[in-house]
Amino acid sequence: MKIVLLGAPGSGKGTLAKKISRDFGVPQISTGDLFRAIVKEDSPLANKVKEIMASGGLVPDEVTIELVKERLQKEDCKRGYILDGFPRTVNQAKALEKFSKIDTVILVELASEIIIERLSSRRTCPNCNEIYSLEDNKEEICKKCNTHLIQRDDDKPETIKHRLEVYENNTAPLINFYGERLFKVSSAGSPEETYQPVKTFLEKLEA
Ligand SMILES: [Zn+2]
Repeated sequence: MKIVLLGAPGSGKGTLAKKISRDFGVPQISTGDLFRAIVKEDSPLANKVKEIMASGGLVPDEVTIELVKERLQKEDCKRGYILDGFPRTVNQAKALEKFSKIDTVILVELASEIIIERLSSRRTCPNCNEIYSLEDNKEEICKKCNTHLIQRDDDKPETIKHRLEVYENNTAPLINFYGERLFKVSSAGSPEETYQPVKTFLEKLEA
């Protein structure tokens, strides 16, 4: 099962990806994780990424594409994958078509006001990257590794609005690009309520 997951930051896309990964036995691949992992490596691609990041520049499409392409060739992707955060542009989507045949594109939809509310209560473990909501974790301590949680700059209210604008601008053309191939799901309910229709849809697709 080769799945592309689209959705705004804070839409619950990551949580949905974890559930799909668990039940359908495919790895969740996020470009954020790929970038965090590659800067610890020593390869021509890794050095290129480090150079770009050190200079404060934006990682160009070709580099992101190369990173994803390499990742999808690994053994654990033989049965499929869930791409989370890629493609982000039509250019990336077209490149992906060339090196992998995706089965479906899931679009997680949620109103901006709810996203802003949810994201500003999000806290991240700087050690293991686990994500919590302040509502479920008032102590702000990671339940997995006991590290004090932080609010990532990305989750601060002033940057959220900007991120949502960037997302809208990039994703609108992507939605057009995928058109009929999109499976849309609302994440206004609980994570489980969001997952159920997706699960049913994927089970049918798999059969
Ligand atoms: Zn942790």
